[in-house]
Amino acid sequence: MSVEKVLQHIQERDIQFVDFRFVDIAGRAHHITLPASEVDESTFEQGVAFDGSSISGFRSVEESDMVMMPDTSATYEDPFMLQPTLNIMCSVHTPDGVQYERDPRSIAQKAEAFLKQSGVGTTAFFAPESEFFIFDDVRFESSMQRSFYSVDSEEAGWNSGREEVGGNLAHKVKVKGGYVPVAPIDSQQDIRNEMVSTMQEIGLRVERHHHEGGTAGHSEINFRFDTLTNSADNLMKYKYIVQNVARKWGKTATFMPKPLFGENGSGMHVHSSIFNGEQPLFYEKGTYGNLSELAMHYIGGLLYHAPALIALTNPSTNSFKRLVPGYEAPVNLVFSRGNRSAAIRIPIAAVTPKGCRVEFRTPDSTANPYLAFAAMLLAGLDGIKRKLDPVALGYGPFDNNIYELPEAVKREVRSVPGTLDEALNALEADSEFLTAGGVFSPDFISNYIQLKRQEAREVSIRVHPHEYSLYYDC
Ligand code: GLN
Ligand code: MG
Ligand code: MG
Ligand code: MG
Repeated sequence: MSVEKVLQHIQERDIQFVDFRFVDIAGRAHHITLPASEVDESTFEQGVAFDGSSISGFRSVEESDMVMMPDTSATYEDPFMLQPTLNIMCSVHTPDGVQYERDPRSIAQKAEAFLKQSGVGTTAFFAPESEFFIFDDVRFESSMQRSFYSVDSEEAGWNSGREEVGGNLAHKVKVKGGYVPVAPIDSQQDIRNEMVSTMQEIGLRVERHHHEGGTAGHSEINFRFDTLTNSADNLMKYKYIVQNVARKWGKTATFMPKPLFGENGSGMHVHSSIFNGEQPLFYEKGTYGNLSELAMHYIGGLLYHAPALIALTNPSTNSFKRLVPGYEAPVNLVFSRGNRSAAIRIPIAAVTPKGCRVEFRTPDSTANPYLAFAAMLLAGLDGIKRKLDPVALGYGPFDNNIYELPEAVKREVRSVPGTLDEALNALEADSEFLTAGGVFSPDFISNYIQLKRQEAREVSIRVHPHEYSLYYDC
């Protein structure tokens, strides 16, 4: 939409407020609202000023002025406000009018420009599958307690959870027993339906929704793929709607990767592919997974850079509590057609040239989607540039259960980093693929590592409830 069209829309729809939004480094949305009567052409030329020093990881107090620059192609009417409100996604600029190097949305836009310059293709498509839990307060409190106080070992988690709930569960969901049962076991179909129709109202194209494999409330809604920045914008809308509809129902929704110990976690598998104009570049009939050589190099890049990449796709201390064996979350840095413990899966259903894509399964929704998708694209492009061959590098394909492979082969299989600190170490050692073409700046990377190290430390210095069961009586 042009500026003129947006202003016309405001008139015609009797919009009362215009809400300008940007996303910080952690992936949280922020906004400033203007009465529609205060919005004219100049608002779009000059942007909307805010104090960058109050946003974690942005500017220091001495140089705090920042500007939100509205993207008129990214507008939607807010589905929750009582008075008609138009939301506009913004990129963050400095007062000199240049894209701010720590603004995630600008980084996503630069990654798209870099793809075009690279000569590889014109467009990258992304589709995230972002899982979440819907809890009510009572459930949430008892879940938290179970998460903290359970003395069971990880292996015992499945059975112990079951015993704790009792023998006859009637129509309640068993631990890890939530994958697609109908009502009354699935008690949240109406809530997800309302989430979906709200998403449709604002123009998100939703393809399906279902109860996920964890206990009651584990959910997933899938919306259609889009280009990199659009898809990240869509994920921000998605989370906004999920959390606000949950609230309307007196519930709370969380995208935290592992809210419950001993239970499945919430991932954000990300599908991606590259096109040159209308031409899909990942497809070649008759090869492994019908993947072209270019797609194989893209996979090579993702896996080769995975330890560093994961610092951006799994950027929380909680992320690494999900990436453990036994919960359908990936642990192995390998690719495969069907195996769900592999970091990369080639969806077998994706047999058409246009649908041919790569599913990266490690990410979770604590990732900032702008940074995560940009970093994935850069890892893949580096693989293409250097012709990294995932087979020669020992990343598979492994189509059988990895635990049944011969010991010698198993030892060769690399795994995801075990902690946020390990991933940050990897990023410290391997960040050139991100700074290629100036997409991420070295300043962004070092600032990011510093912020995340602080987060990891905040968690590590706190006394953990489980330490009482391990050490209290020593
Ligand atoms: N919840 C799983 C994860 O953490 C994924 C399960 C699925 O989508 N089949 O990645
Ligand atoms: Mg899915
Ligand atoms: Mg899923
Ligand atoms: Mg998936």
